[in-house]
Amino acid sequence: MEELELYAKENNIPIMQKDGILYLCNYIKDNNIKNILEIGSAIGYSSIMMASISNDIKVTTIERDKDRYEVAVSNIHKYNLEDRINIIYGDACDIEIEGYFDLIFIDAAKGKNTFFFEKFKNNLSIDGVIITDNLSFHGLVEDSSLIKTRNQKGIVNKIKSYIEFLDNNKEFTTTYIPVGDTISISKRRIDNE
Ligand code: SAH
Ligand code: MG
Repeated sequence: MEELELYAKENNIPIMQKDGILYLCNYIKDNNIKNILEIGSAIGYSSIMMASISNDIKVTTIERDKDRYEVAVSNIHKYNLEDRINIIYGDACDIEIEGYFDLIFIDAAKGKNTFFFEKFKNNLSIDGVIITDNLSFHGLVEDSSLIKTRNQKGIVNKIKSYIEFLDNNKEFTTTYIPVGDTISISKRRIDNE
C-alpha cells in the first residue's frame, strides 16, 4: 500500500489520510460491515484498504475520472480483488445503483455531498451508516482566517452547508470524528425521535 500512497502523493491525488482510513477500517470491523458503496474511488486506495479487512467484504465504487479509474482497475487487479471490488466508471450523479449497503462512503466532489447523501440513502440498509470525508478541509472550515482564495471560500461554504444539512436532518443523526480531514458518521434515527 505504500506504493499507492507514494503514487498519490506524487500525483496530487487526495486519498484518505492514514489515521482517517485506519479509523474507517476499524469502524468497518467493529460494526461487522460487509457491503460498501463508495463514491469517489480515485486510484482505488481506500477501496483496497476496506476490501482487505476480510474475505467477505464487498465494495462497489464509482469514479468519473478516466485516468484515475484506469489506475484503480490496475491496482485492484494487482491486489487480486477483482471479485470483491466492483469499480464503475462514470459520474455518480447519473449512475443508478441497485441493492442495499451497510456503509455508504462519500468521498467525491465536496459540493455534491448533500446530493449524494439524498440520492444514495435509498441504497442504505435499515441500520446502515453514511460516512463522509473531508469535513474540515485542512482546518479551513473551523478557522476561516486560514482561507486565502475565493475558490477555498467557495469550498468551505459548501462544506458548511452540508454540515448544516446533517445537523438539521430529521431522518439521520450525525457525529463528527476529528480523524484525517474529519469524517461524519450518519445513522438513521430510531422512530425518527
Ligand atoms: N476514496 C479515495 C479518494 C477519492 S478522491 C481514497 O481515499 O483512496 C475523490 C475522487 O472523487 C476523485 O478521484 C474524483 O475524480 C472523484 N469524483 C468527484 N466527483 C465525482 C462524481 N460526481 N462521480 C464520480 N467520481 C467523482
Ligand atoms: Mg477524501
